[in-house]
Amino acid sequence: NEAILEVKGLKKFYDIHQGWFKENIKVKAVDDISFRVHKGETFGIVGESGCGKSTTGRTILRLDQPTEGQILFEGNDINLLPYEKMRKLRRKMQMVFQDPYASLNPKKTIKQILTEPLRVHNLYSKKERLEKAVEILEIVGLSSYHLERYPHEFSGGQRQRIGIAKAVILNPELIVADEPVSALDVSVQSQVINLLLQLQKKFHLTYIFISHDLGVVRHITDRVAVMYLGKIVELAETEQLFTDPKHPYTKALISAVPINHPDEKKERIVLSGDVPSPANPPSGCTFHPRCASCMEICKREKPPVISFDDGHTVACHLYTK
Ligand code: SF4
Ligand code: MG
Repeated sequence: NEAILEVKGLKKFYDIHQGWFKENIKVKAVDDISFRVHKGETFGIVGESGCGKSTTGRTILRLDQPTEGQILFEGNDINLLPYEKMRKLRRKMQMVFQDPYASLNPKKTIKQILTEPLRVHNLYSKKERLEKAVEILEIVGLSSYHLERYPHEFSGGQRQRIGIAKAVILNPELIVADEPVSALDVSVQSQVINLLLQLQKKFHLTYIFISHDLGVVRHITDRVAVMYLGKIVELAETEQLFTDPKHPYTKALISAVPINHPDEKKERIVLSGDVPSPANPPSGCTFHPRCASCMEICKREKPPVISFDDGHTVACHLYTK
């Protein structure tokens, strides 16, 4: 399996100033994560909000600077690339945002929105750019008749189609989609998911699909990383993860997904409390205050990463022998 992207020891820390004395506190939004994304696959990143999923996506695309670690895109360390090379590479890595309202400039027409990335990257003549815009608009299921319209004239689902068109028009290889359907009506969600799948086939795209919706993730991803408080606690092929989850956090998340087979039985594991603040993470295994299997060692020591077959890994003391 050829890796299109390799993330090694990625960290993203923020400083915040808190309390009476404006104490300087380090927030470890992403805390030493490593994974590979294979060419052509859909790689899921799941977890509750506040676990570092979006920061991971943004850091990979360099919308946020990493604090530490390496990001290799097709073997090139993107932190070391000179500006001009990075700019060329940017074309190959695009993002689809959760909120199409926020990611489309309300003052620009669809024509401007779609042709601008091509213009910024100095691609094609003006006439060709317009042709590209028409072509891509049709591919995402909208008529060229919409070109002179503004984002507010569209429904949420149509707007997300435009957001997707804007990402795809540059002919990228990797798309990071951060909760691309969470803001949409349930009835529209599957249409947009199907569009993403069609585009993946047509343009041989690799996706990093960030979502808290495990039903959708099971449907479309090939492999999944589960994040909790800035760390990957489990990573596996999707079916493996859903049929044989190892980490107590993964088990709880999966137990909350509605059952889709009548003979599938499962017990709902209720997660108590919210995700603790990454500014003040619990000691040892950061999941321990919410874990029903918590042992003494869990409060003191960070769990090591244990490997199973087929690249299935889990960070939990239950599996150390
Ligand atoms: Fe639970 Fe301990 Fe495993 Fe953490 S290391 S998930 S507290 S059993
Ligand atoms: Mg998020």
